[in-house]
Amino acid sequence: MKYRELLKSATIRLENAGIADASNDAWILMEYCFDVSRTDYYMKTDEDVPEEKCSKYNELIEKRANHIPLQYITGIQNFMGFDFKVNENVLIPRQDTESIVDKAVSYIGSSEKKVLDMCTGSGCIAITVDKLCKNSIVKAADLSEKALNMAIQNNKLNNADVTFIKSDLFDDIEGKYDVIISNPPYIPTEVIDTLDEEVRCHEPHMALDGTKDGLEFYRKISYDSRAYFGENGGDIFYEIGCEQADDVSGILMEAGYSDIKVIKDLAGLDRGIWAKYK
Ligand code: GLN
Repeated sequence: MKYRELLKSATIRLENAGIADASNDAWILMEYCFDVSRTDYYMKTDEDVPEEKCSKYNELIEKRANHIPLQYITGIQNFMGFDFKVNENVLIPRQDTESIVDKAVSYIGSSEKKVLDMCTGSGCIAITVDKLCKNSIVKAADLSEKALNMAIQNNKLNNADVTFIKSDLFDDIEGKYDVIISNPPYIPTEVIDTLDEEVRCHEPHMALDGTKDGLEFYRKISYDSRAYFGENGGDIFYEIGCEQADDVSGILMEAGYSDIKVIKDLAGLDRGIWAKYK
């Protein structure tokens, strides 16, 4: 079989399986499997694909046809210009999250702030802040040992300097921080069954399930954080679900935060909250 034919049959296989962006995914898996650039590919479209490579590619296509997210097959997702390794123990970094990190990074800039990322997962938030805010000292916590394993690999991959702590929220956190950032689980439990198959069947529920009303982590983190800000207070940045701005603002207000601002994502939806504790 020639490269051109293989790519075409893979695209048709993915289309038939209902994969939305079939031709893009077939191409990305070709790039991944054969380590070819577009130019290399066009140079050899009419060459025969070595037999063993052909079956390896078809195995990857079968995985994708079974709706395994592309990033769990290639093992990589880019986030704010940095590559992050991912597997089924961590949420795939989302573009939505970039809006919150972007705000936090602009705020921190080159100041010497101590930053804590609570519920770090792949480590994408903590590592990006560490890379882009040169004078910050960044720590990151997660309850999942498997997620922390991945985050530590990502720290190395990106030459970052984040310290990781295994902790059930603040249970094992010490010290004081100027900025606390979190993308906690926020999907209400009963909504999980209605999520897209790729999320529902492959991404870790532990990173998604925000308990009954989806707000439990915001309650706990908002209240518990207060003991971890220094004398001058601090800032909290949350990712939120697009319908949670009022509820999360209310929780923060009750916990004594002020200057509560909503952060929009690229689609113009409410996606984050930034508040101050003085
Ligand atoms: N934004 C994610 C999703 O929609 C959820 C992330 C989270 O719960 N923290 O799948």
